Amino acid sequence: MDDKILKLQHTLKKELDEDRYQHTLGVMYTSASMAMRYGADVTQALLAGLLHDCAKCIPGDKKIHLCEKYGLPVSDVEYENPGLLHARLGAYLAEKKYHIHDQEIIHAISSHTTGRPGMSLLEKIVFIADYIEPGRRELPNMKEVRPLAFKDIDQCLYRILEDSLVYLNSRNISVDPMTQKTYDYYKNELKKEA
Ligand code: FE
Ligand code: FE
Repeated sequence: MDDKILKLQHTLKKELDEDRYQHTLGVMYTSASMAMRYGADVTQALLAGLLHDCAKCIPGDKKIHLCEKYGLPVSDVEYENPGLLHARLGAYLAEKKYHIHDQEIIHAISSHTTGRPGMSLLEKIVFIADYIEPGRRELPNMKEVRPLAFKDIDQCLYRILEDSLVYLNSRNISVDPMTQKTYDYYKNELKKEA
């Protein structure tokens, strides 16, 4: 494999805890498989998958501190739940610390938790791979969502957004408003197609 990817793997193994690192490898290979299926660039998919959680293991208060230091926006919901910042901060670190200058990869890292309206193919791939990678806990919907990822990417994206919102709301976990926005957008898009 690409020398750059091997070097990054080595660095990330030190930045992440063991579970997160294994998850990262799962997302990396699942992203690559989906890229093969949908004709996206496999190297871009590997890099985006590998780096998507690069900021995940930074403690919450440090996440806030770093975002402030780098001039990245922090919303009220994010001040309360700094975990939500790992995507935006990760995108920043991917560029500044890991020297990824491909903006398609940066965007895929940045939107991997909440999605966003009008996602690129690579963004959809990383978003879905993050949810379905083999190491993920067997959620009740996994049996349907995993094959759907390789059958119809937009239906799969929609299904994951819907299930996530139902799950978060049922548990009273605060939802990033962008997740709802993305859901509403794709609900509309799929209606247009039907
Ligand atoms: Fe993440
Ligand atoms: Fe992840």
